Amino acid sequence: MNCSACEARLSARIDGDLSLSEAKAVDAHLSTCPACRALAQDLRTVEIQLEGLRGIEPRADFTASVMAAIATLPAPKPAGVRWRWFVAYLAAAWALLIGLTMTRVINWQHAFAAAATELGKVGAAGSTLADVASRSHLTTLAAGAFGMEMFVLAVGAIVLRRYLPRLTGWLAGAQAI
Ligand SMILES: [Zn+2]
Repeated sequence: MNCSACEARLSARIDGDLSLSEAKAVDAHLSTCPACRALAQDLRTVEIQLEGLRGIEPRADFTASVMAAIATLPAPKPAGVRWRWFVAYLAAAWALLIGLTMTRVINWQHAFAAAATELGKVGAAGSTLADVASRSHLTTLAAGAFGMEMFVLAVGAIVLRRYLPRLTGWLAGAQAI
């Protein structure tokens, strides 16, 4: 085997990809040729360095730099936001209800008295529940409550739409930067 034939097979020899007879021929040439032996040594060195690259280690500050990059991202909304919206809505509804009661827009005493009277009438007449709905003031009361709820929702929607950025921040408990 001459030098060029040996060089062509050196990489395969190092990788163990040659047949037994070819490997023996290359080894025989290497034992007699210092130039090809030096080349084989260089190839092995490169192979070893490539092996080392596969187990490459991240930079010492890799974790810190990733965490720093994450810290610059906008904070996710806390899970409790929806719950806070619900509490805010309930508080608004109750505040409106109490306000209307105190300003006598709604007279509960009268409403309950009227409802009780009607219930008593219905009970004495032995009417059905359908009669309760059609004859008593309960229907009016229910319609009023429903209308009030819709009103609160509408006002809430308008207010929230206008002040949404600030309110969202407040409800989410976010801190101003
Ligand atoms: Zn040679």
